[in-house]
Amino acid sequence: MTITHHPDIATLMCCSAGSQPEACAAVIASHLAVCPFCRAEVRKMQKIGVALFDSLEPETVAVPPPVATMRSAEADVPEKSEPCVLSAGEIPQFLVSCVGPCLDMMSWDPVARGLWTHAITLSPGACGDLRLLKVEPGAAFPEHTHVGWELTLVLRGSYSDEFGTFRPGDVADLDEESNHHPVACAEKGCICLMASEHKHPLFGGADRAK
Ligand SMILES: [Zn+2]
Repeated sequence: MTITHHPDIATLMCCSAGSQPEACAAVIASHLAVCPFCRAEVRKMQKIGVALFDSLEPETVAVPPPVATMRSAEADVPEKSEPCVLSAGEIPQFLVSCVGPCLDMMSWDPVARGLWTHAITLSPGACGDLRLLKVEPGAAFPEHTHVGWELTLVLRGSYSDEFGTFRPGDVADLDEESNHHPVACAEKGCICLMASEHKHPLFGGADRAK
């Protein structure tokens, strides 16, 4: 798998800090599973975070802060932990329990001609939208505007737009300033994992955070 499109550095920093919304974190975790380059970047950011933390003067507190627990848990993570990978069915391992083991065995809901979706349920209270999207060969993705950020990870096939061609493992990291007109690969079409900050306008209307 040759990856040419990576998440923005700011997105990786949010990932490193653990401050990403759930839907976004799912896409980034799936990319990290197949991208040694971004895994190394995140590891570097975590080390910087730990060094900054260590430079702080210690303070005595009555109750151990949660961060102390997080630090000790992090110390237990081996430097070269086994990377998780996409399952044989081209689904990120940690999503297998939600959507099944294989892209060819899951259920799809039609959205428009040549476009199907499979919504993934987020934790109660989580805002945003996470779903798989299947586009038939040669079809254009429906035109839409972004409301907030949108992260798309290609799992199968490819698509091309103004930013290049996105193949399995590639991530498109877009904000509401980004306009694009993606078209799925003429031979294989495209299946992607897509997270958006709010309910996607194509799948149930905008759900802007108050
Ligand atoms: Zn990457």
